[in-house]
Amino acid sequence: MPQPQDKPELHPAAAYKRVMLKISGEALMGDQGFGLHPPTVQRIAREVKSVQEMGVEICMVIGGGNIFRGLSGSAQGMERTTADYMGMLATVMNALGMQSALEELGVFTRVISAIRMDEVAEPYIRRRAVRHLEKKRVCIFAAGTGNPYFTTDTAATLRANEMACEAIFMGKNGVDGVYDKDPKEHADAVRYDEISYDEVFAKRLKVMDASAIALARDNNLPLIVFPLDEPGGFRGILAGEGTYTKVHG
Ligand code: UDP
Repeated sequence: MPQPQDKPELHPAAAYKRVMLKISGEALMGDQGFGLHPPTVQRIAREVKSVQEMGVEICMVIGGGNIFRGLSGSAQGMERTTADYMGMLATVMNALGMQSALEELGVFTRVISAIRMDEVAEPYIRRRAVRHLEKKRVCIFAAGTGNPYFTTDTAATLRANEMACEAIFMGKNGVDGVYDKDPKEHADAVRYDEISYDEVFAKRLKVMDASAIALARDNNLPLIVFPLDEPGGFRGILAGEGTYTKVHG
C-alpha cells in the first residue's frame, strides 16, 4: 500500500536533460467536450515554454481522442484499421494546433509525423529528430506509431525510448496521479506516490495500455503521472513539487 511519507525522489529540473510529455487529446478540448479549445492549448503551450526555459529538451506526443478514436469508430461498424488511421490523423491536427500555440510564444517546434505528409509535417527520421532536440526545438511526434492497433501511449513510450528521454511525464486532467481505484467514483481511493510497472499490471490499474507499460518497463523508463490542469503543474513537477505518482521498473 502507498506510504505517503515515502514520497519518491523526483530530480530537480536541472537533472532532467530530456523528457517526453504525453497528453491526451481530451486535455486540449477544455469544457467544449470536443475538438480543440484554443485558450486551453495556449495554457499548455505556456507550461511547455516555462519548462523549456529551464533548459529541458522536450518531446511531446498528443493523443487524438478529442477528435476521433479508432475503437469507437469500429464499435460503430467502421473497419478497424481505417478507423485507427483516422485516429492517427486526428493526432496530427492536435500536433499542429500545439505547434501554432508554441510558435506564437516564440518556441521553435517541429511536428514530426509517423505517416508521411510532407506538406504539413516532417517525416520521422530519428537522427534528425535528435538534432532538433539538441537545438532546443520542441519535437511534437504526430500520427502515433504510424500503425493501427496501437495507441498514443505506446507512441509516446516508443519515441521516448528512441530519443533517449529520461522519463515520460503524463499530464492528466482532474487527477493527480495513479489511484488504487477511480477517485471520481470512490471517495476512499488512495493515490500511490510510487508504484512499479509489475504492480500496475498485477492490479490492472488504468495508467497506460498494456503494450505501452511493457515497453516502458522493459526499457526501464520511468513514468510520472501528474495533474496537467494545475497552473504551473508541468514546471512544478519537474522541480520536484506538487503531487504525482512515479511508476518505475
Ligand atoms: N492510433 C493508432 N496507432 C497509434 C496511435 C494512435 O491507430 O500508434 C489511433 C487509435 O485509433 C487511437 C487514436 O489514434 O484511438 C487516437 O489516439 P489515442 O486514443 O491514444 O488518443 P488519446 O486517448 O491519448 O487522446
